[in-house]
Amino acid sequence: MFLEKTDLNQATKSLFYAAQAVIHHIESQGYKAYIVGGAVRNILLDKPVNDIDITTNCLPEEIINIFDRTIPVGIEHGTVLVLWEEYQFEITTFRKDGDYHDHRRPDQVYFVSDLKSDLKRRDFTINALAIDESGEIIDYFEGQDDLLQKNIRAVGDAEQRFQEDALRMIRAIRFQSVLNFDIEENTLNAIHKLSPMVEHVSIERIVIEFKKMIEGTGNSKALQIFYQEMYRYIPFFKCLKNDIKKYQIHHATTFEIYLGYIIFCETNECIKRLPNLKISNQEKNLIKTYADIFRYFNIPGYSIRQFVYRYEINLIKDVLKFIHHEKLDLNNMIDIQLLKENYHLLPIHSRSELAINGHDLMIHLGKKQGAWLKQTLEDIENEVIEGRLTNNREKILEWTKQNV
Ligand code: ATP
Ligand code: MG
Repeated sequence: MFLEKTDLNQATKSLFYAAQAVIHHIESQGYKAYIVGGAVRNILLDKPVNDIDITTNCLPEEIINIFDRTIPVGIEHGTVLVLWEEYQFEITTFRKDGDYHDHRRPDQVYFVSDLKSDLKRRDFTINALAIDESGEIIDYFEGQDDLLQKNIRAVGDAEQRFQEDALRMIRAIRFQSVLNFDIEENTLNAIHKLSPMVEHVSIERIVIEFKKMIEGTGNSKALQIFYQEMYRYIPFFKCLKNDIKKYQIHHATTFEIYLGYIIFCETNECIKRLPNLKISNQEKNLIKTYADIFRYFNIPGYSIRQFVYRYEINLIKDVLKFIHHEKLDLNNMIDIQLLKENYHLLPIHSRSELAINGHDLMIHLGKKQGAWLKQTLEDIENEVIEGRLTNNREKILEWTKQNV
């Protein structure tokens, strides 16, 4: 049985034992329950498992009755979260999707009594495997074969499945990247034919999959399909003006660094479209910071001290790694050691460490607030960072006499 596999890490084993206990509890009440989806796939691939989904013929109300601690997270789709020891499990009643009219969501979902119907509604054969209470694998769609062949294959008729929910096409390239698999021919042909339907999918759902895709080691193959087939139908990406060949990368990275790189390559028009991705302000700011860092690597005669003063060294490191991996040709290359040395040489690390503030300057110079103040503070800050002016109140005031 798979739990005896010695190469599973202890955390994964403990999680599976807890899931088995939950399944045992459901079955002791006369129902059937199985582990499904990503957890089965990952365990068969010897990959870490972070969460386990369970499917059952027990109805949601009954799950709430038979467990002490539950949260009805998606009761309309049949999903209840069960808290068990220090773990939590999403338990979903076997279901079948009704008709689809908008290429995103079924009009209705129906609870059914058999596992096979539930597995049939799932997207890819490798995601349609189940494990029963005794640890046996249940595989109606040759998902194990596809795991061995490293194939992403739609369950059933690929065209129909993508017509139902166009997000599945983006999920196909997400799994292609994360697992470093290939998309099987029929499934790929269906993507080729139906990718314009991606237009019907909400950007929030696309971004969730896109983020995982960018972080995968197979992102190069996945991006190739993304730029051949899909980007024209997706907000923000459809506005790209630059030669999209530039956006074909070859190493796993994060969404924010990748978007920072795109913003760096693109025009202002494109930056304005960033809100169309409907991501948080925090993410947008990080993306803009990364874009600024990329730009800094291209400023002629740039000051390393200013660079390490303005941007967190870890963010600079992220960009440097991306530049090296993707062999980008930028003006200023620098090694991380030099960045660190310059950081340690900085007399101040933020404006609040300046020995003087705006109020002091106004009093000392007998001037009212105005544009001059912001400029003067900036100039003082630059002089101090560059080591041309000591961060000392008297020295700074003396400097203002000659320079303001
Ligand atoms: P991960 O490890 O990245 O979470 P996962 O396979 O668990 O991968 P989820 O997005 O969490 O992926 O989805 C859980 C399961 O639900 C999938 O394995 C699949 O069986 C099913 N599923 C999710 N989204 C869809 C969809 N759009 N269409 C059909 N089935 C889906
Ligand atoms: Mg999951």
